[in-house]
Amino acid sequence: MTDLERCVAFHGHACGGLTIGYQAATYAAKLLDLSAQPDDEQVVCITENDACGVDAIQVLLGCSEGKGNLLFHMTGKQAFSFYLRSAHTSVRLVLRPLPHPMSREESFAYYQSARPEDLFDVKPATLPLPERAQLFESYVCECCGETVGSNWIRLRNGKKLCLDCCPSYDRFHV
Ligand SMILES: [Zn+2]
Ligand SMILES: [Zn+2]
Repeated sequence: MTDLERCVAFHGHACGGLTIGYQAATYAAKLLDLSAQPDDEQVVCITENDACGVDAIQVLLGCSEGKGNLLFHMTGKQAFSFYLRSAHTSVRLVLRPLPHPMSREESFAYYQSARPEDLFDVKPATLPLPERAQLFESYVCECCGETVGSNWIRLRNGKKLCLDCCPSYDRFHV
């Protein structure tokens, strides 16, 4: 299987969006020399959208939400920042507009055949990377009794509540 075929198998279909992510991941791997990385947790992606292309980045670079090396900074842009922690190098790739209006099929073919240099502007990555996945203290919500990471606990009238219990508490107890 080629890299692109692996992306399509994971994503479930071939599409322009997936191809954008494939091109971005491949380009970042070249720019930051990521293929030499034995430990893919050193590679971090901050994506600015949650569209099809993110799946290609997961497959090709091993970034995942569960490992904490796939982060979302939602601006709705086709932009992706890549970081190599061990080398302190990074790059932000921003998809350029199509050179002229295209149908969906035409743009799909364009994204597949274009060189990454022509697809993306290469900019410095400016978003700071968070520390590696932290373990938070947890508390038991005083309404539903379910355990919640401290980051997600809200205080209402001195009670510690989970996010789902806050609105109903406000409705019935205030
Ligand atoms: Zn898709
Ligand atoms: Zn609760």
